[in-house]
Amino acid sequence: MDFALTEEQKIIQETAASFAKQELAPVAVELDETKNRDILKRNLKKLAELGFMGLSVDPKYSGTGAGTIAFSLVMTELGRACTATAVTVSVSNMVAEVIQTVGDERQKMKYIPPICTGEYAAGGFGLTENSAGSDAASIRTMASLNGDHWVLNGQKIFITSAEYAGVFVVWAVTDKNVPKGKGISTFLVEPSFPGFTVGKEEKKMGQHGSSTNELIFEDCLVPKENLMGQLNDGFRIAVSELCGGRIGVGSLALGMGLAAIDFAIGYAKERIQFDVPIANHQAIQWMIADNYTRLESSRLLLLRASFLKDQKKPYAKEASMAKLYATEAANKACYDAVQILGGYGYIRDFPVERFYRDVRATTIYEGTSEIQRLIIARELLK
Ligand SMILES: Cc1cc2nc3c(=O)[nH]c(=O)nc-3n(C[C@H](O)[C@H](O)[C@H](O)COP(=O)(O)OP(=O)(O)OC[C@H]3O[C@@H](n4cnc5c(N)ncnc54)[C@H](O)[C@@H]3O)c2cc1C
Repeated sequence: MDFALTEEQKIIQETAASFAKQELAPVAVELDETKNRDILKRNLKKLAELGFMGLSVDPKYSGTGAGTIAFSLVMTELGRACTATAVTVSVSNMVAEVIQTVGDERQKMKYIPPICTGEYAAGGFGLTENSAGSDAASIRTMASLNGDHWVLNGQKIFITSAEYAGVFVVWAVTDKNVPKGKGISTFLVEPSFPGFTVGKEEKKMGQHGSSTNELIFEDCLVPKENLMGQLNDGFRIAVSELCGGRIGVGSLALGMGLAAIDFAIGYAKERIQFDVPIANHQAIQWMIADNYTRLESSRLLLLRASFLKDQKKPYAKEASMAKLYATEAANKACYDAVQILGGYGYIRDFPVERFYRDVRATTIYEGTSEIQRLIIARELLK
């Protein structure tokens, strides 16, 4: 067993860390407070130039081909600085990978390079609907074939990057006369397609810098050739492709947890109460020790799931374990970081307040903690 990173992985991690520190961290507060999408788009463009929008994508499609371990390392470093940017990068990587795995050659050549090079600000993943969150097989958006086009009707909700994504992978029902989940297909949808509109933006607790909106399809015309993968195989595609995304979300949550506890450690060494730095109080030391232990455990789970994925071995259970554990550990770390800062933790002058709001969504999107437990238990009980 070798715990060492390769030279390439080390360089990628260092590049991501220095970019996050020098470019993302200084604008993270402004992005959170103003939701200025130009800041986000500038961040994304630079990240595309670094090759971070297609880390597991073949260079043939303008990707980096660095693999999932590199992806996980990058997401953690970006998560330390700016969650809104990190989550956009995570979803865009996932979208590029879905197209790489499932798309035909024309679809790959057309849609992956613009994501990787930054020609598109981001890629979008359109699965969730009003009546279908955890139970994604319950989607109601319909697609029917009419001549050379699929006609889509329905509505998606909570779609990350809806306002600026250049392409969306969208799931719709193509056969409603078969058992649940068996009649769903996957489509590539451009925002310029007739009948496509981006709906209302959600007002979120955190992650203000990234947009989360409805997608509305009203007789939306999608060229016949933009069906991706086999007809009626869409639910299987969604289930298997979400596993890679879970590594991304777990990794960026780890970054937030580390950043919050690192900040709290620095604060605890400076803050004097009862004539000593609060770091001298054992209660504070235990919070630091317990959190760092959980975060390091998260890192190992994430790297193991990434390793299995890169080895093309089954990794669904491991990705769910990593996502479940890392996001719960990161939530606890951000909670305790606020506690260590006391009243100042609750004040916007310090970054732990933002991390506490931002980290909350990570146990919800790309499968809630409860759904991860279902997946893990199902695998173990097989
Ligand atoms: C900021 C943000 C960004 C998002 N981005 C995207 C995106 O880009 N694309 C996209 O498609 N979706 C996106 N989502 C949607 C997200 O994936 C869903 O919110 C999530 O899957 C949960 O679905 P739901 O909100 O409908 O909750 P529900 O499914 O209604 O769940 C409510 C509660 O019930 C629990 N529950 C449900 N079923 C079970 C069960 N069988 N056993 C035990 N407990 C259960 C859940 O764990 C949860 O606690 C985003 C969400 C947010 C908040």
